[in-house]
Amino acid sequence: MKGIVLSLVAALWALAVQAQKVFPQDTIQTSNGPLVITFVGHASLIFNWHGEVIHIDPSSREANYYQLPQATMIFVTHHHGDHCDPASLKAITTDKTKTFMSSRAHEKWNQGMVLRPGQTVTVKGIEITTLPAYNIEHKRDDGTPYHVKGECNSYILNLGGTRIFIGGDTENTPEMKALTNIDIAFLPMNLPYTMTPEMVADAAKAFKPKILYVYHYGKSDTNHLRELMADEKAVEVRIKRM
Ligand code: ZN
Ligand code: ZN
Repeated sequence: MKGIVLSLVAALWALAVQAQKVFPQDTIQTSNGPLVITFVGHASLIFNWHGEVIHIDPSSREANYYQLPQATMIFVTHHHGDHCDPASLKAITTDKTKTFMSSRAHEKWNQGMVLRPGQTVTVKGIEITTLPAYNIEHKRDDGTPYHVKGECNSYILNLGGTRIFIGGDTENTPEMKALTNIDIAFLPMNLPYTMTPEMVADAAKAFKPKILYVYHYGKSDTNHLRELMADEKAVEVRIKRM
């Protein structure tokens, strides 16, 4: 009996913690009102802007999406489980949600529009451009890159003139380093799947986003990135708990 009571208390406590989980946020002014960024965890983000609720790579490993606002738009970078999760997509999709997927993610969640790297479309006044996300150095034992060029997307969203780069699982590719005029960039930094701090710094120093958020960083040393970026005054590094 005592055991049952204790496990009941533990279960209620877990529920309370889940209900109270507070995600870090940042607000950035655009020419069309504030952009509020919610850092759900790992690669999962929410952008609230101009009445839109834009979810990036929603994953139920990071939150119970039934407790989060439903999406007007969803972007999925690629098919891996920490980015494309049908359970959370189901929780936030309504009949009005516009969803954008890589081709292989679309095999897992058969809704929305497939965008291939290099495409540009404008939806609801938001210009959306895709870039390939892929590995150059980091490969599986059989020699295949963890992310094969052409299968995974990064996205650039233009929200009221503010250009946001959302790096899918990628390294410091030539396509990324050639970017110009990026206001906010999200870059992944974990091994073996994405970038080392050195790779992130190399990319950021090349395309100089005004604000750099690292995410998808697992146990990587974010202080080391700060050190590497200390001499680059054009880029403000912001690290949020994710
Ligand atoms: Zn991946
Ligand atoms: Zn990933």
